[in-house]
Amino acid sequence: MTPTPCIYRIDASYRIVAVGGSWAEFALANGGDNLLPDDVLGRPLWEFVTDDNTRHLYRMLIDRVVHTRVAVSIPFRCDSPDKRRFMQMSIAPHATALCEFTSRMVRVETRPPQVLLADQERPRMGTIRICSWCKSVEVAASRWEEIEEAARQMEFFAAASLPFVTHTICPKCNERITGQLNEPLPPTAPEPDPRPID
Ligand SMILES: [Zn+2]
Repeated sequence: MTPTPCIYRIDASYRIVAVGGSWAEFALANGGDNLLPDDVLGRPLWEFVTDDNTRHLYRMLIDRVVHTRVAVSIPFRCDSPDKRRFMQMSIAPHATALCEFTSRMVRVETRPPQVLLADQERPRMGTIRICSWCKSVEVAASRWEEIEEAARQMEFFAAASLPFVTHTICPKCNERITGQLNEPLPPTAPEPDPRPID
């Protein structure tokens, strides 16, 4: 677990122009040794956010931050096969960049390694959708479950093959984040009372 947040900034053309905090440490700990600062600087954010729905939401969140100059904060999960990582991402206006993303670890829970994420040996057939934000798995049309429950229902442990994983956003997260986009802005400091006329 890393208490230092992972930070990056983008410019007006959505290119990553700065990374800091625990970025490098986090990349190395999660097999992202091709995602060190020198590898990502100058590259468009969209190379790392590949699913269309999530891109659309990122764009709307960034627009809101840029136009209102008020940060937004969104809970998300960044799991590994044997850990549930509960994170919080804030997108904030920045003086010299379009905006700054800060992801903080809120808490970590250990779990048995999930074969859907960990198994490199078994053949993969078909696809299954995972929510990029909450990491739930679509087990049937419009039915999303935590990966442990999905593994139980779909018998991943004993299956001869596993599905490929594709990322999307589940209806619950879509509603939650879209709702946040429409939230009224926090009240600003009241204007000082006009000076009384003598
Ligand atoms: Zn979700």
